[in-house]
Amino acid sequence: MPAELIVIDGPAGAGKSTVARRIAERFGAALLDTGAIYRSLAWLARGRGVDWDDESGLAEIAAQLRIDFQPPQQPGAPQRVLILNPVDAPERAPIDVTGLIRAPEISEGASRVSQHAAVRAALLDIQRGIAAVSVAAGRGCVAEGRDMGTVVFPEAAHKFFLTATRSARASRRHKELTASGAVASRGEVESEMAQRDQRDSSRETAPLQQADDAALIDSSELDIDAVVAQIVAAIQAAGPTPA
Ligand code: C5P
Repeated sequence: MPAELIVIDGPAGAGKSTVARRIAERFGAALLDTGAIYRSLAWLARGRGVDWDDESGLAEIAAQLRIDFQPPQQPGAPQRVLILNPVDAPERAPIDVTGLIRAPEISEGASRVSQHAAVRAALLDIQRGIAAVSVAAGRGCVAEGRDMGTVVFPEAAHKFFLTATRSARASRRHKELTASGAVASRGEVESEMAQRDQRDSSRETAPLQQADDAALIDSSELDIDAVVAQIVAAIQAAGPTPA
């Protein structure tokens, strides 16, 4: 993969999504939110009555899943996530799942579906395809997830692993959820996060892991601006930047 690919991995709540969005804006690159792909699969499976533990049923849906990322309707909002040609209903219009996939039960579903090796294999092409289109267009791509630097894009030129203490991550996530109107206690958020951490780190296929050649950034004591500044400086110091 050419130098225009920047990858950011790390656990939930470390600030990856915001940081990745800011880096993509900074370099005019596309943003590939791979968590949104796992979330979309979990959402679609639930609608089709396919269990989140049914590996072959999920892999079948994953193989046909088509996702499109679109710019946000308002500046500063998250990009939109559309499911195209839903399985069994190719004539249906794209479904905008941007908000739907952020529900807490879909976080749980994404974490469950992502355990299966066949699912992860089926989603490789989607992830690589989206990045390849952006890179070929000369835009570059910022890909964020859990296994970007280790499995999906091992050749990426710029790799970062963004982490923070569980307590710092839970506080941030709790604040975000409260701001969006959700009702969850700080303790519930932290225990849900602990479960996801455990599943993400201990699964056999592509566990959450820092790539050997990724730069580690601990955001426990840093604000988003400081993290973004560190990453931008590292990319610039390393050489050519995305167009
Ligand atoms: O990043 P986000 O919280 O949206 O990811 C949702 C879930 O999808 C994660 O908890 C993780 O289990 C899974 N995931 C993954 N590999 C990725 C991205 C997300 O396993 N590259």
